[in-house]
Amino acid sequence: MMRTRALYRAAAAAQGEKIVVLGSGWGGFQVALNVNKNLDLTVVSPNNHFLFTPLLPSTAVGTLEFRCVQEPVRTVLGPKGQFLHGKARTLDPENKTITVQSVHDDTFEITYDKLVIAVGVKTNTFGIPSIQEGNGIFFLKTLKHARMIRNNIIDVFEKAAVPTVTPAERKRLLSFVVVGGGPTSCEFTSELHDFVKHDISRLYPDLLPLVNVTLVEAGPALLGPFDKALQEYAHGLFKKRDIDVRLGTAVTSVEDVELPDYHFPSRQAMLSDGTAIEFGTMVWSAGLAPRTFTTTMTDTLPLHPRSKRILVDDYLRVKGYEGSIWAIGDSAVNDTGDTVIPQLAQVARQQGIYLAKVFNGTQQETEKEFKFFSLGSMAYMGDLKGIYDGSSAGEPGKEMKGNPKLRGLLALLLWRFAYWGRQTSMVNKILIPMHWFKSFIFGRDTSRF
Ligand code: FAD
Repeated sequence: MMRTRALYRAAAAAQGEKIVVLGSGWGGFQVALNVNKNLDLTVVSPNNHFLFTPLLPSTAVGTLEFRCVQEPVRTVLGPKGQFLHGKARTLDPENKTITVQSVHDDTFEITYDKLVIAVGVKTNTFGIPSIQEGNGIFFLKTLKHARMIRNNIIDVFEKAAVPTVTPAERKRLLSFVVVGGGPTSCEFTSELHDFVKHDISRLYPDLLPLVNVTLVEAGPALLGPFDKALQEYAHGLFKKRDIDVRLGTAVTSVEDVELPDYHFPSRQAMLSDGTAIEFGTMVWSAGLAPRTFTTTMTDTLPLHPRSKRILVDDYLRVKGYEGSIWAIGDSAVNDTGDTVIPQLAQVARQQGIYLAKVFNGTQQETEKEFKFFSLGSMAYMGDLKGIYDGSSAGEPGKEMKGNPKLRGLLALLLWRFAYWGRQTSMVNKILIPMHWFKSFIFGRDTSRF
């Protein structure tokens, strides 16, 4: 077996096959990080960094700084590959070519022998025309989003502090609506709570009583993937903090509000229960939708009829293009198993490592099926409390015994330790605890930039 592997590895390198990876997120970055130096690798992405998404909500209020949740792609690629800063637009699998639109807008073609599609997904607005970024509405998926949210939060407090602003407008400016009850929305709501409790209370004490946070979730519970007791614990924490949690309620549209004594443009969220909430900030994190690159592949690649995720087999190979195209992460789905693999960073990461082994020749293409090993689910809940649900931990069908579940400080320590340990660079391993310490002792930075 050892000899076969060595021969396979030598053959793969000798062929000088060109591997192209689309995307520098959780899946694509892991392929780039783990493939051998002697392979011909090209990464194409509109982001020249990898984003550590689980810590993104912390940057949206300044608990962590933006620099420490990203890794530049070129520092891991080094001399072993090239990076192209742009988006894949079209794919021609017959001629093995991809059209790339660079971030500077010029378009060119590249060829591949082996292609990995890891383009992820985008925010789902459920076709509601008024849900568009801008004018107080923000998504939370990229560094740019977190930066815009953070600036807007500071902005609304500064506006509300203007003496000529009326009490009604002040209240409207300091109204926050978070849409979606999943882990990202709950973590953002928790970070916002910490920011208001520890920093706004100190810097804008007169405005503190006017702050109002509403969390809107269309489903019957918060934190869908978590155990019921942990969902209730989180809900209880939000209730104690006077966060208005509206379950079974959807945002149906957003409308402009025009009142003569308002200084700043104003908007309100229309809810399915017939009520309306004026807001200064809406963070929309209500679901996932396929990217344009994936949906334009309808005639080229096999897509799941509803989710439009690319269909792959047990070895992550795109159906009909075995041996030349693989798809991983949020944009892919395996339709052969009984359980649908969730759209999670830990899935994309494991799939990226799996594919790197195949390309390195340490594992043959169909030697071993990809099996997701779940580490369980974690979330930060504010006030130095976390939740951890280990009931799904392990391989599907071989879950860990004992259903470990944690909440409070212990779960927070686990959350912090796990994400600290997952950092790729030593720089971020140093910066992250420094910023946690700095925010805890000295507060968050509220400069607008
Ligand atoms: P992504 O990581 O989204 O990467 C996609 C990449 O493709 C990006 O680099 C993008 O720029 C690039 N791209 C897009 N279009 C193109 C194109 N046309 N051509 C080339 N490149 C393109 N999961 C967890 O397991 N735990 C968590 O705690 C957690 N927290 C999260 C918090 C937030 C705020 C968010 C947004 C997500 C979180 N997730 C978490 C989910 C996790 O981030 C995703 O499941 C994971 O990022 C999926 O990895 P991916 O490689 O498929 O896609």
